[in-house]
Amino acid sequence: MLFKNITHIKTDILIIGGGTAGCMAAIFAKRKTPHLDITIIEKAHIKRSGCLAMGLNAVNAYLVNTTPQEYVEYVKRDNYDVIRSDLVLSIGERLNRMTHFLEELGVPFPKGEDGKYIARSERSIVMYGEHLKPILAEAVAAHGIQVCNRTPAYRLLKDAGSDTVVGVAAFNIRSNEIYIVKAKAVLMCTGGASGIYRPSNPGLARTKTWYCPYNAGSGLAMGLRAGAEMTSFEMRFVALRTKDVIAPTGTLVLGTKMPQCNARDEKYIRKKQDMLGRGLTTCERLQFTIAEHEKGRGPCYIDVSALNSKQYKELVESYLNMAPSIVLDLLEDPAHPRTHIEICGSEPYINGGHGMAGFWVDTYRRTTLDGLYAAGDVAGGAPKKYISGCFAEAEIAIEDILQRWSSFQEPKIDQAVIEQAANDIRTPLNSEGCITFNELEDRLQKIMEEYAGGSTQNYETSRDKLLIARKLLAALSQSAGDVRATDGHSLMRVHATLERTLLARVLVEHMLARRETRWPCYQTRLDFPVRNDLEYKLFINSRMVGEEIQVVKRNLQSPYALLTKEGKAA
Ligand SMILES: Cc1cc2nc3c(=O)[nH]c(=O)nc-3n(C[C@H](O)[C@H](O)[C@H](O)COP(=O)(O)OP(=O)(O)OC[C@H]3O[C@@H](n4cnc5c(N)ncnc54)[C@H](O)[C@@H]3O)c2cc1C
Repeated sequence: MLFKNITHIKTDILIIGGGTAGCMAAIFAKRKTPHLDITIIEKAHIKRSGCLAMGLNAVNAYLVNTTPQEYVEYVKRDNYDVIRSDLVLSIGERLNRMTHFLEELGVPFPKGEDGKYIARSERSIVMYGEHLKPILAEAVAAHGIQVCNRTPAYRLLKDAGSDTVVGVAAFNIRSNEIYIVKAKAVLMCTGGASGIYRPSNPGLARTKTWYCPYNAGSGLAMGLRAGAEMTSFEMRFVALRTKDVIAPTGTLVLGTKMPQCNARDEKYIRKKQDMLGRGLTTCERLQFTIAEHEKGRGPCYIDVSALNSKQYKELVESYLNMAPSIVLDLLEDPAHPRTHIEICGSEPYINGGHGMAGFWVDTYRRTTLDGLYAAGDVAGGAPKKYISGCFAEAEIAIEDILQRWSSFQEPKIDQAVIEQAANDIRTPLNSEGCITFNELEDRLQKIMEEYAGGSTQNYETSRDKLLIARKLLAALSQSAGDVRATDGHSLMRVHATLERTLLARVLVEHMLARRETRWPCYQTRLDFPVRNDLEYKLFINSRMVGEEIQVVKRNLQSPYALLTKEGKAA
């Protein structure tokens, strides 16, 4: 029988997810306390996993000529005031130090003649980051950190005598074993979630998404199942990207400073900026691009016709560091470089690194579950943290864990809890149903696309549509027992799709609760088309009680008190 064997691992600090935040957290922990055992549980292989798998060409949060306080003000403006300023400030204070540490680890940063980093903007610098993830993985190995690759974590495990999180049940898809990992402290670093909405590319190209297609939001689902509070799922992140190959456009807009134009060659973004007399927010750039389509002036492009051959070559090199597939497109006919690169909006994601959906955490990155911390894209409340912000959160969490080390207890987990988790992992292998994970995923994405504001709906939705989504998702969840897995890989895919389905249900509740349009495209309610500062300058949070999703509101200001339905302090 597959997954019959259970392997037990005991460690001091368990890190779930060996991506950006996870690898760095492990390195920080080992540097500060070499005698502690640190274990990373990773779904893929840490050498090329998560958002950094293809590499990056910029550190998007580096304070060039600006202060941490100004960074907070910028993030606040860009997100229409609803952010956790305390979290953003704690990130801002560490961004530059984190970047310097990355350079120390061996990631190359080009410098100008003055010896300084090359700035793309006030808050972004150029990096040669194609090898970023292998460099992090090598540092993890050099520090003697234990890594369990190809081992998706499935369920958080709590202490027998208290409600403290002290471990995880996972399964290794190569050895076909179940892992029970016990630890004194647990840090969740599993990133955000893609695959909830229908991807823009079909068939075999469906994993050509902007957000890492293998980040299924499992950490969020595990947290929800264990009773953790989540925040701001309704503020989905939608990336403005190059069409088909879905490469980031920051490389073009910030890197080359080339303009966005519509199908009639009108520079619609510049026009808007001139009209409004200010720079646009990130979601406005997307909103105004979608508006061009709606008015029959699409598709839209980045006009790169003014680049000379040296600049074009630099653009190609820059993309080689982050999104190599677009290079095939850019160099299709070397004698005739592209003059226009078509752009589009991606499908929406749940993400706490660009957006702010994720675990509700305090300034130490403690979640609302005892013993569980969260850092990186899985942690909510602090948009625009990017890689350096993920590193900062990893460091903050590790510092707090070590500070409180003497208060953590030896973990004890009931045998019955272990057996239940193991059985639940195996359930799809024993299913007699005939639904495949692909069929489940197709159905989930169709529901979300059509009723919960997918890209083909211009990201718009309304109460009536969301109520339909709620009903269809509830029915879909009922079919969980009929989804079948035949081996380790399909077992992972089944669990990931069920986790995405749970996140979709929570997302719909968040979208129903925010009866305004705060972040156009990220969160557009056609039935409440304007921002309502009087009633909705607050956080929409949620947690699960049994199978029920409870939505609560929290005040915008620290200590972020719970609010009544009428918006008063509870
Ligand atoms: C395409 C793209 C381009 C970007 N460009 C830039 C840029 O130029 N500059 C910049 O500063 N930032 C950029 N970012 C943002 C930045 O890369 C992310 O914010 C950051 O890497 C997220 O780090 P993380 O650790 O939270 O997630 P990840 O690095 O994605 O790590 C999550 C890890 O968890 C693992 N995992 C998931 N589920 C499980 C599970 N159930 N069990 C075990 N492991 C699991 C994953 O395999 C992965 O290794 C970009 C992001 C994307 C997607």
